[in-house]
Amino acid sequence: MLAGIGYDIHRLVEGRKLVLGGIQIEYKLGLLGHSDGDVLLHAITDAILGAAGAGDIGELYPDTDPQYRGISSEVILEEALSVAAERRLKVYNLDSIVLAERPKLGPVKKEIRARLAKLLAIPPDRVGVKAKTMEGLGPIGTGEAVAAQAVVLLEESR
Ligand code: MG
Repeated sequence: MLAGIGYDIHRLVEGRKLVLGGIQIEYKLGLLGHSDGDVLLHAITDAILGAAGAGDIGELYPDTDPQYRGISSEVILEEALSVAAERRLKVYNLDSIVLAERPKLGPVKKEIRARLAKLLAIPPDRVGVKAKTMEGLGPIGTGEAVAAQAVVLLEESR
């Protein structure tokens, strides 16, 4: 087993769709980014790349590269899974935390979990999605940003 950790933070702004864990969420603001800004998928992608010893998301998908502008983060995640597969590694489990004051993620947590299980091709009971607020503290607490943390285990595929 190989463990990997990932973290990301994106700014919440007007005029963008809010996409978290591959799920579009109804909210007045969305996450700013070169891609769709899906902070949770970015943290998961980095955790996979880290566990696979394959660098990080910024090396593989530079935000200066026009071909990644507006790209779905699911595509980036799939590419990281391919990199892992080339090294004969696949995801065993994922645990994650989304740090957001608003919107409240309780109602969509289950849907995000199901989506992540599908994307990672593992059972939903091996996917953790926890939603935390920052108790009003810092840029996340004031609703200016959303962050995510992820830990994955990769196992050798045979
Ligand atoms: Mg990012």
